[in-house]
Amino acid sequence: MRHDGRQPDELRPIRIQRQFTKVAPGSVLISAGDTTLLVTASIDETLPPWKAADPAAQKGWLTAEYCMLPGSTSPRKRREREKVDGRSTEIQRLIGRSLRACVDFETLGPRTIMIDVEVLQADGGTRTLGITGGYIALCDAIATLGDKVSKDRPVLTTSIAAVSVGISHGTPILDLDYIEDSQAEVDLNVVMTGSGEFIEIQGTAEGRSFTRAQLDQQLALAEKGIRQLMELQQAALKG
Ligand code: UDP
Repeated sequence: MRHDGRQPDELRPIRIQRQFTKVAPGSVLISAGDTTLLVTASIDETLPPWKAADPAAQKGWLTAEYCMLPGSTSPRKRREREKVDGRSTEIQRLIGRSLRACVDFETLGPRTIMIDVEVLQADGGTRTLGITGGYIALCDAIATLGDKVSKDRPVLTTSIAAVSVGISHGTPILDLDYIEDSQAEVDLNVVMTGSGEFIEIQGTAEGRSFTRAQLDQQLALAEKGIRQLMELQQAALKG
């Protein structure tokens, strides 16, 4: 039994609210327990200069930014004014790489999708929840393109969700909160497609090590959690 009463294979309660703000074409408030994010997806009808110079410039692009708001954690996190810190840079690149795996950039055409993940409250698992919520925001934003994109080929080729898993006191556990994350022997972030393939796996056993068998156990747990998250994504997208 975990400190919050969950079973080892249990996700935190997930809440999803689409169209949370009005201006961005995709805007999702998503929470897993006490971790709460606002994820928006915006569409720019241009390409970044480095991409526009490319001969294959008819293809679009997707990128992401991630920010923990100062009051999202205690002690307060200093606002990132001039330079984004190393952790946020790593996380936003992970979110961008992950969500690019589901976009057909030829069908999207020469436009840029920006995913913005704002952490309103951090209690572990912000990067994985950013990806899970980012996919929903992305679906909503793409839907607003209407006739600007071909109807014959979908812009989004699969669904994407992500979850954290880890090993705590020798037991594999799903969807770690901050207390669990800070005490875990292993911390693993897993991103998967709707067809059950992996996009990215980030695993760390800081100052320790883990076995192949433990990796397999954690991946099985992650896959189970991601399937549940995908059902919740689909339910939210229908609602
Ligand atoms: N955290 C924090 N301040 C920071 C970095 C992390 O309070 O500057 C907390 C926060 O609760 C976060 C957790 O530590 O969710 C785990 O951080 P990690 O870097 O493992 O990323 P995450 O699990 O959020 O993807």
